[in-house]
Amino acid sequence: MRAVLLAGSRNAWLRTRAMRYPFVRRSVSRFMPGETLDAALGAARLLQQRGAGVVLTHLGENISEAAEAEAVTAHYLEVLRRVEADRLDAQISIKPTQLGLDLDLETCFRHLMTLVERASLIGNFVWIDMESTPYVDLTLELFRRARGVSPRVGVCLQAYLRRTAADLESLLPLGPAIRLVKGAYMEPPSLAFPRKTDVDENFFRLASRLLDPDTQRAGAMVAIGTHDPRLVERVRAGLRDRPAPLACEFEMLYGIQPRLQARLLGEREHLRVLISYGEFWFPWYMRRLAERPANVWFVVRGMVGR
Ligand SMILES: Cc1cc2nc3c(=O)[nH]c(=O)nc-3n(C[C@H](O)[C@H](O)[C@H](O)COP(=O)(O)OP(=O)(O)OC[C@H]3O[C@@H](n4cnc5c(N)ncnc54)[C@H](O)[C@@H]3O)c2cc1C
Repeated sequence: MRAVLLAGSRNAWLRTRAMRYPFVRRSVSRFMPGETLDAALGAARLLQQRGAGVVLTHLGENISEAAEAEAVTAHYLEVLRRVEADRLDAQISIKPTQLGLDLDLETCFRHLMTLVERASLIGNFVWIDMESTPYVDLTLELFRRARGVSPRVGVCLQAYLRRTAADLESLLPLGPAIRLVKGAYMEPPSLAFPRKTDVDENFFRLASRLLDPDTQRAGAMVAIGTHDPRLVERVRAGLRDRPAPLACEFEMLYGIQPRLQARLLGEREHLRVLISYGEFWFPWYMRRLAERPANVWFVVRGMVGR
């Protein structure tokens, strides 16, 4: 089921049709407060009242025209402006292929730096998402270069990749900001652990390395990006045995595990919720379905009107 849904996420024919159906659009609303920036900012305000920070991400990936990358950059500049004006605790998260990485690395880097420099000026922060494996080296290069200019940029690492432990070691001397996640794309077993238990164990090993006192002394900032209650509790138990980390927060996606989110906030953990918005939601939505095939039943129930 996961493989079928992830293959579907890249299918243009399916995308054009699925996006037209009201029952699909209804089921998307579980994970997205709306398609507009205003809807995302409205949700951010409510979350902030409950004690959570947010990360805003405008949906879109693999753009093919230079003008699109310019428009995306201009949009994120506007997001940073609105966040500052509204005094929101809201960072941004971008996908390199949305800033033109498929066109060329330098175009993408230029757009990334426009955002990182603006974020640095106003005390905000830019996260770089990690996409599928052909982009990992380039994404790490973008991060290293941007981190050389400003500390207000972080990168996502995926625990399902066999290479991630080595990537993490190579980044640690930078005192990096790392968001650790399991990984959401279709990858071959030669590159990614096929068994979920191995991914979970690797996640915990990487999280422990990031929260190691030496790593923390080097200035690493850590975002634990998972909705897995077992892993969350294991990380929290590990944290209790260590001196307080400099900067560690939990990050979860809007609409997923809301009870766990509320519990963490109630127990005074730092929580940041990633809010996605925008019209180009199809591939992102299919990845959310693939993470939990039971979600497909919500779509089917919506289709038959129950
Ligand atoms: C803040 C943040 C940023 C992310 N950025 C990236 C990125 O840049 N690159 C990338 O590859 N991936 C990214 N991801 C996605 C990530 O890789 C996983 O696919 C996703 O978080 C699901 O894995 P999990 O750790 O929650 O564990 P899982 O073992 O998949 O899930 C644990 C439990 O969480 C709940 N759950 C998880 N997903 C869903 C869902 N879709 N619907 C309903 N319930 C669900 C279920 O109860 C499940 O049992 C990000 C995730 C987060 C939270």
